[in-house]
Amino acid sequence: MQNTQGTENLRFDAEVSKVLNIVIHSLYAKKDIFLRELISNASDACDKLRYESQLNPNLLDYNDPLKIIISVDKEKNQLSITDNGIGMNRQDLIDNLGTIANSGTQKFLEAMQKNESMDLIGKFGVGFYSSFMVASEVTVESRKAGEEESWVWKSTGNGEYSVGKLSDQIPRGTKVTLIIRTEEAEFLDKFRIENIVTTYSDHINYPVEFINEKGENEKLNSRAAIWTKPKNEVTTEEHNEFFRNIAHVGGEPWMILHNKNEGAIEYINLLYIPSIKPFDLFHPDRRCSVKLYVNKVFITEDNVQIIPQYLRFLKGIVDSPDLPLNISRETLQSNRVIEQIKNSLTKRVISELSKKAKENLEEYTKFWNNFGAVLKEGLCEAMPTDEREAILSVCKFHSTKDDKLVGIEDYINRMKPGQEYIYYLTGNSTDSIKNSPQLEGFVNKDLEVLLLIDPVDDFWSSVVHEYKNYKFKSVTRADVDLEKFSSEEEKEEKKDEKNEEVNSILQYFTEVLGNLVKNVKISRKLADSPICLAVDEGGMDLRMERFLREQKQLNYRTPKVLEVNIKHPIIKNITKSYTDHGKNSILEDTIYLLFYQACIAEGEEIENISDFTRKLNNLLCKVTI
Ligand code: ADP
Ligand code: MG
Repeated sequence: MQNTQGTENLRFDAEVSKVLNIVIHSLYAKKDIFLRELISNASDACDKLRYESQLNPNLLDYNDPLKIIISVDKEKNQLSITDNGIGMNRQDLIDNLGTIANSGTQKFLEAMQKNESMDLIGKFGVGFYSSFMVASEVTVESRKAGEEESWVWKSTGNGEYSVGKLSDQIPRGTKVTLIIRTEEAEFLDKFRIENIVTTYSDHINYPVEFINEKGENEKLNSRAAIWTKPKNEVTTEEHNEFFRNIAHVGGEPWMILHNKNEGAIEYINLLYIPSIKPFDLFHPDRRCSVKLYVNKVFITEDNVQIIPQYLRFLKGIVDSPDLPLNISRETLQSNRVIEQIKNSLTKRVISELSKKAKENLEEYTKFWNNFGAVLKEGLCEAMPTDEREAILSVCKFHSTKDDKLVGIEDYINRMKPGQEYIYYLTGNSTDSIKNSPQLEGFVNKDLEVLLLIDPVDDFWSSVVHEYKNYKFKSVTRADVDLEKFSSEEEKEEKKDEKNEEVNSILQYFTEVLGNLVKNVKISRKLADSPICLAVDEGGMDLRMERFLREQKQLNYRTPKVLEVNIKHPIIKNITKSYTDHGKNSILEDTIYLLFYQACIAEGEEIENISDFTRKLNNLLCKVTI
């Protein structure tokens, strides 16, 4: 160190002392953030010089490019971070490092007063002062751009600091030198330093170099912040390379969203939708993979809700200068800026998806098969109707009418005159539900039914009741009435229903089945099957109830409506036999078996399986083969 002149000792501002006290006595594990803070200050200083040089071009010398240099002297336990940025004069040193002017540190203090947890240090940056977590002494030598005098600031963090003038001039900029405490010697290790730089500071605008033992400079931050380049200047190779680094999934991006937003809130997003589905997409602990940056400095990717959970297939970064660098995770959760960025990003993603779906269904289907089920989780969340409808409008479904996936608008365009509802049926696979008895009447009458086969479909369909003015209706509902789509001939036949024989057989069914059913009614939708289960308006969906039972959230069954197809030969037979001979045990067994059959068709388990087999065997004994 050079000679200094006229050194003054000054006391820290009371608030700085408080911060220092906390920082120095913290046992916080994540001490490595001090380097992130110092590099970010150096990078800010370079930004400031660049900005100033627009007004005063003499400040910048093109032979001396802006950069940040890290060097260590293991023998002296010294770590230095040097920049050739704006620099500080005596007053700057006192104002910037002796008092708390910045809001990040101020917020930290406020939070500390509420919560005594030391963890907060890692979550906030506490800026420059975090160097005292690892250093017993910090020296700042600096010369401000355009000024002749060089200054030195020094402190051990114990309430006082000194400022003096250096007798010789140093190069423009700032050199921060830390005497690293012996127990923190890991921070003198090149690999440790490199690791911290690539984690937090990889994308900052300026090269971060390390001076090795041979005195050579090695660049530590490898990748440039490609998101800050104009959109059309980023090549496909650059995107692929960046995507590979950030996404940790194979393949190339299926879609790239690169935008600079200059509205009320400034931010850049560079987001990718992968073309391959990650294996842990549905893992409950899966972390969000959109990284948050503030002016190219990495902040966090932990649990920040910068994108909604249902867009968790997105990979990439969001960079906003409107967030403080020292923002904590707690404040991130409830931050207004984050909330606004999230809303605007969500709208953008959905509208890009919508465009893509219209342009090329085949391409879109690839995306949909990978991530459609995740996107549909969004339908279960509380949100304004127009947002929910926007999500619904990019959803694709299997259908009884088309081998290709169909959108909700396609469905509406094909609705029959007089059709009020969007009909759907949920199940495990299209194969398993395509032949469901529930669909027979719809297929016969050429009414389209959406086949929903993702587990999430059972959930959203129980909370989303309409799209625009069209109501959704499960075909398993007892009040589905297809009569208005019947032919004249069918309407004629319906008149038979009023007859007494029919009424009394329904009555007999009710009597036999007792509590097993809620009621028994003539089916309006069955064609080839004799019988099916249905649910009343307002009742819980069959599959939903079963799911809740399996999850032990429900410990009873609600009796279902039994729909009977009175035109079916079996039902006709039973009716005839009942009319001719009255009650008997064979009829009773047959009614039970029909009921059990309806349960099986819906995937419901039969509670009394021994009763079922006994009745079936009784009947089989009577068959002559
Ligand atoms: P913040 O960066 O959030 O303002 P810090 O505690 O990190 O808070 O830094 C305090 C201030 O010190 C900065 O705002 C800046 O004015 C000044 N400063 C710190 N490091 C440098 C540097 N390397 N060059 C110029 N000024 C610096
Ligand atoms: Mg800072």
